[in-house]
Amino acid sequence: MNEPGIMEQPIFCKRCHAEVRDTDNYCHACGKSLKPGHGFLFTHAGIILMGLVLGPFALPFVWFSKVIGPIAKIIYTLVLLVVGFYLVYSLVHIFTLMQQSMQLLIGNLNDLENGLHSTQSFGVF
Ligand SMILES: [Zn+2]
Repeated sequence: MNEPGIMEQPIFCKRCHAEVRDTDNYCHACGKSLKPGHGFLFTHAGIILMGLVLGPFALPFVWFSKVIGPIAKIIYTLVLLVVGFYLVYSLVHIFTLMQQSMQLLIGNLNDLENGLHSTQSFGVF
């Protein structure tokens, strides 16, 4: 049967099938987000917060957001990619430094060992 579109069609939550209003962002019964891309994490504040915590892993929230504009998406994407690149660069740099420190440490231990003519210098610290 076809009702004329005067009356508002009831909307049901996809998870728990409770009746919800069109204006609801979340189901009042089970808390499911009713509008993908509309939760707090998809707003400017949410994305900036996520970007600070997750870095480039916040990118999906930028792309799936239906709240922020296309220019904001490009800006956030660029910023997060720069942050991601910087993180990778820092990690590589730290790894290189650690490797150099380890080599120095091993070198010192070898010197110590050679000096003492003993293998017991390992594990003394
Ligand atoms: Zn629900």
